[in-house]
Amino acid sequence: MTDTTTGTAPDPAIPSEADWDHAPSLVDGANSLELTAAECDLQYWLRAVPQGTLRGKVLGHDENVRPHEVTRRPGPLNEALTQELAFRSIAEDKATRALGYMVALAPDTATMEFYTTQLMDEARHSMVFRNHLLSLGVARQDLFTTIDRLAAADRDAVLVPLENLGLEVLRDQEDFIGGVVVLTILVEGVLAPAAQLSELKWRIFDPAAADVERGAGIDEIRHLTVGSSVAREHLLAHPEDKERILELITRGRKLWENLPATEMTLRRETLFQKGLDAHRDLAGDYEIWPGRRLVDTTIEERVGTAHEWSESMQRKRLLYMGLEEAI
Ligand code: FE
Ligand code: FE
Repeated sequence: MTDTTTGTAPDPAIPSEADWDHAPSLVDGANSLELTAAECDLQYWLRAVPQGTLRGKVLGHDENVRPHEVTRRPGPLNEALTQELAFRSIAEDKATRALGYMVALAPDTATMEFYTTQLMDEARHSMVFRNHLLSLGVARQDLFTTIDRLAAADRDAVLVPLENLGLEVLRDQEDFIGGVVVLTILVEGVLAPAAQLSELKWRIFDPAAADVERGAGIDEIRHLTVGSSVAREHLLAHPEDKERILELITRGRKLWENLPATEMTLRRETLFQKGLDAHRDLAGDYEIWPGRRLVDTTIEERVGTAHEWSESMQRKRLLYMGLEEAI
């Protein structure tokens, strides 16, 4: 019998795209894989996620993986990471609740099962992001007031307008495919690359947070690829809906232009830079991506790279969905 906890051989029972040690990065996976709702049903999810990606990682990381001491104590690294986690925890909470409408509106069993699993994934993301704040010095009894203090302004400025668009489409118009597009193109498609950046830039200062991001990124490959395939199949069967979907994308993009999301990202990245400058020795020769040491990167380079990933992912997805007019 082989000990799979110490070896690196893939476990044949776990789909490789969900295997902790063998899954591609979020951006690579979302750009190269094709998965459908019918493939990613409840049986797939039970094998791939609770028994696969998350086996032994209820909190999103192994128990012996901990944030570095410089990130646990008050300072710019702690501020940058707690602000980010608080914001992400609220975003995932809102996504979970919106997904309740997707489950209710799903036109068939395959999409109903898939969106049920995505609902669980997003509730889990919210929980692990929130929970990790406890490892960064937040007292349990202050958790929710701290999340509010750290992220209520960003929530109101960035997340509430996006949530309102989603609720208008899902709750008021009961438009399932509109909801799929809002989620896949306008919310997750835009935010996912920031999550990958987060995994890479926190790896040294908080390997537990990086692992939490890694697990959420593995889930996100599934959300983006299946969401795209649901939209593609729907538009092939109902070409008459294309005009409406294109208008929705245009509306969503206009909305994004007026959201202070870049300001928020730059504020957190500036804090991160301060911490990086103070602890260059810890980062050493760690490469954030091949050939580029983290210590040599700038705020603009990190934010710009995530933005490029986002653009190239969007182009690929829109083409695949048959929405090339939106590129
Ligand atoms: Fe998520
Ligand atoms: Fe997601």
